[in-house]
Amino acid sequence: MRLRIDLHVHSSKSEDGCSTIAEIAESARERGLDGFAITDHDAPLIYGEACELSDELQLVVLPGIEVSTASGHILILDPRRDFRKGIGLSEALNGALSDGSVVIIPHPTDPLSHGIGEKLAEDAAKSGAIIESLNASTLNRFNASAQKLAERLSVPAVGGSDAHIAKAVGDAYTVVDSKGVDAESVLIAIKKGLTAPEGRQTRKSTSLETIFKRAKRRINIK
Ligand SMILES: [Zn+2]
Ligand SMILES: [Zn+2]
Repeated sequence: MRLRIDLHVHSSKSEDGCSTIAEIAESARERGLDGFAITDHDAPLIYGEACELSDELQLVVLPGIEVSTASGHILILDPRRDFRKGIGLSEALNGALSDGSVVIIPHPTDPLSHGIGEKLAEDAAKSGAIIESLNASTLNRFNASAQKLAERLSVPAVGGSDAHIAKAVGDAYTVVDSKGVDAESVLIAIKKGLTAPEGRQTRKSTSLETIFKRAKRRINIK
């Protein structure tokens, strides 16, 4: 079955996003998504927690993290070890792949979003990482170059919103051809490359609202 899953969402579980996972779930449901991955910066959502949330919210919630490696960002679905901020890219990549986690290279060619760059993305893809070729929060030209990269390397491509507020969830997402409506089946399908990115860039007004809310949140936290 074809499930619509946003594979790149930030939440208030860390200091990163502005919306709670419940708010994200409500927005996902309104947008007709079947689920989402929580990928907060350097703060993992682990498999057991994701399964509990899936039951509670009646949506597929995938475990994840966005790791700030020394070379830029990588997404790991189903992280199974500690990935400290500033970890070497190859240490994070090799560790995650040997654990059986899914590694996604987000916004690879966008330097403003800490993309790891085309050369490192190419090396990572050759090791088994997949490419985020549609990120709703980056510029169209960076998505175009990411898409070209995935095509040139013949690696699976995925999409995600990179939302930091609930309203932006599902602006981009991945259609996953999964055997079941649960985290395990979806992760297996992603590993098999049964994915297709869909969606569009987040509206300018929503991006501005995100900037404002994140700034406000940072001030309130401190
Ligand atoms: Zn990022
Ligand atoms: Zn992100």
